[in-house]
Amino acid sequence: MLFETDVRAAFGVITQLMNSSARRSGEYELLDDPATLDAIVADNALSYSPERTRAEDVEIRLLRSRLEEFLRHDDEQERLDLVNALLISAGSTPQLATHEGDEAPHFHYTMDDASFSSKLTALTAIGLARLLTTRETDRFRTCDGDGCDKVFIDVSKNASRRYCDSQTCGNRLHAARYRARRQQVGAAAGAASGE
Ligand SMILES: [Zn+2]
Ligand SMILES: [Zn+2]
Repeated sequence: MLFETDVRAAFGVITQLMNSSARRSGEYELLDDPATLDAIVADNALSYSPERTRAEDVEIRLLRSRLEEFLRHDDEQERLDLVNALLISAGSTPQLATHEGDEAPHFHYTMDDASFSSKLTALTAIGLARLLTTRETDRFRTCDGDGCDKVFIDVSKNASRRYCDSQTCGNRLHAARYRARRQQVGAAAGAASGE
């Protein structure tokens, strides 16, 4: 396997966090809803949870913009510097850990008492680091779907994935029809109310 389980969890956090912005979600700012962080924790089997402070909210949004920056850079050295800066800002201290019933020891990238945002920062930095150390940064891509700005990290064997895994992009035609129908209904409603 090219990427270990904890690296895949990091990939999951990176993409879910980036796709939570209004621009990428195609809807609204998903971080305004506390359930979004809960979903990120649950979907990636993280063993820690948000503290829900104002400072944390600011830090998580800052982390998201740093992840965006990584994707924007096409220079390896800039990407590398960014990852190192993230690791430093998270106060990353690699530790080997085991959990009860867990199969193998694995890395935790921060001390247990580190803040949620520090843990998330360190984990995502490690995910980005693995893309660099394996020279697989090209796997970090934006969806090819029409009008879809979601990002994904392709862990498939031949690295040939082109779409995010949202329902919408899995079924473009259906979505296009739905949008067209909604526009018609909207236009009809506008006409009826004299707009
Ligand atoms: Zn663990
Ligand atoms: Zn998509």
